[in-house]
Amino acid sequence: MQQESGVSPDGVSLSPGCVLCHQGAKMVLFVTGRCRRTCWYCPLSRERKGRDVVFANSRQVSSPAEAIEEAESMSALGTGVTGGEPLIVLDRVVEYSRALKEHFGPEHQIHLYTGLAPDEAALRRLQGLVDEIRLHPPHECWPDILDTDYARSAVLARELGFLVGIEVPALPGIGALAAALPLLDFLNINELEWGETCADAMRERGLEPEDGVHNAVLGAREWAAELPRDPKVHFCSSVFKDSVQLRERLKRIAANTARPFEEVTDDGTVVYGVLEPAGPVDEFLASLDGDDYMVCDKTIEMAWWVLAEEGAGLPGRKYVVERYPNGGMVVEVTPL
Ligand code: SF4
Repeated sequence: MQQESGVSPDGVSLSPGCVLCHQGAKMVLFVTGRCRRTCWYCPLSRERKGRDVVFANSRQVSSPAEAIEEAESMSALGTGVTGGEPLIVLDRVVEYSRALKEHFGPEHQIHLYTGLAPDEAALRRLQGLVDEIRLHPPHECWPDILDTDYARSAVLARELGFLVGIEVPALPGIGALAAALPLLDFLNINELEWGETCADAMRERGLEPEDGVHNAVLGAREWAAELPRDPKVHFCSSVFKDSVQLRERLKRIAANTARPFEEVTDDGTVVYGVLEPAGPVDEFLASLDGDDYMVCDKTIEMAWWVLAEEGAGLPGRKYVVERYPNGGMVVEVTPL
């Protein structure tokens, strides 16, 4: 049986990209939503699938400079390039990877995820920019993996100095990929996840979510167990991705960007109070320290406990906001 992410008492050797991911120190750079494959389990959201858009973590960006800003905001030590199919936009991968390496230095670790089998020309363009390549061969070619372009690409990429792995979702028949282990530095298995765009395809195959809380699909762990115990084999659970990876990344962003009056939670979210004034509040603001609040467009944002304890008599709507740091997704709004 393979190891859970972050736990390697038996010497499972995580790829350098995975090590940084565990620390929440890896920025996710989504370089395009376009892809010519039609995997029935494709996890892309409607917002991204098929669209030629770039996201650095959850922020849509339009230049390498904006991606670097996002990486700075989380003190990123590396970047995972993903899609869609990144190699459809190879020039863009080269442009962003070069900008990141130039800005942060060659030690900024970059891994590239691809559903294609890059040839020598493509690999040579990525040399010195991408450190680690993660191949995602189609499910139907797993039984003959050694006779595919993916095996040939893995051998070539290693000769050219890349770290090379296969990274696929846990599906029935995954045990056949064991044949490729001698060609690889690692084999990552992602727990199959239920998604909005693949839910119908999952139902058609008789699959169902493990429970009502998480995205994991029932049975995925058993399929993953088809692979032998091997230090190169690593199982990344859905819960781990949702909790540890995301939480650690949010904490890094919050540490760099939280305003003085925002409370940073153990989950890496920030909490603050909002007043939508419906009358004069100058006297109240004068009683606060300048760092304790911020006047925005039509609202005043401040420490939630100040608003809760001292704002009772103030005119206007009052509530507490919990959201991802740096203006990210709102998790909860609680009226006061
Ligand atoms: S290769 Fe990746 S992005 Fe393309 S269809 Fe398959 S899962 Fe989706």
